[in-house]
Amino acid sequence: MLRPLLADFAALFFPKSCLACREPLVAGEQHLCTGCRAELPYTGYHLLPSAQNPLARRFWGKLPVRHTLSYLRFLRHGRVQQLLHQLKYQGQAGVGRALGQLYGAELAAAGMSAEFGLIVPVPLHRRKLARRGYNQAEAFATGLAAALPCPSAPHALRRTEHTASQTRKGRAERWQNVATVFEVAEPAAIAGRHVLLVDDVLTTGATLEACAAVLLAAGAAAVSIATIAAADSN
Ligand SMILES: [Zn+2]
Repeated sequence: MLRPLLADFAALFFPKSCLACREPLVAGEQHLCTGCRAELPYTGYHLLPSAQNPLARRFWGKLPVRHTLSYLRFLRHGRVQQLLHQLKYQGQAGVGRALGQLYGAELAAAGMSAEFGLIVPVPLHRRKLARRGYNQAEAFATGLAAALPCPSAPHALRRTEHTASQTRKGRAERWQNVATVFEVAEPAAIAGRHVLLVDDVLTTGATLEACAAVLLAAGAAAVSIATIAAADSN
């Protein structure tokens, strides 16, 4: 990540580029070029009845999730993967906030402004937080909170222990691994509220499921889920 001074210096010589396609941005464009903004693979899941939402099925029979939302479909080697790479590994917390604002505005336009009582991001482990400098899920939550608008509680959930690398574990083992690592740090903020739980990507859903379970156990009236991108299930 460039330090701020160096970033300013670089901006004098290199025009900012679109975080999805790397083409130079023109006046009035921020983070994303107009072409990418038009052509990103939007899911439109917030416009579907729950029974027709393919993402909602991931949580059926596990725990009640009121709305299962994702702004974009995750496609490998495409614009969405590039955006998420910028957000997670290139220090671009701004892209998370920008995507949150865009999606929040769409949810508000669909009449969902008053739906949620509190926005809570999936917490990052403190070691990762120290390395990255920000929680990418919190950046997305900040944008959503501003655009809906809705209060947010970025530290309402916390991790209780370090999660070992999950890549070599089987599905059941992976669930066991995450199930124990979240707890509610601010129960008074959660109680009686419809919580919109937010993360950057939905893959297996195990992390979101574990977080939703502790939120419901802490007295949340309902839990909904929103991510920047969701991988198609097979
Ligand atoms: Zn672009």
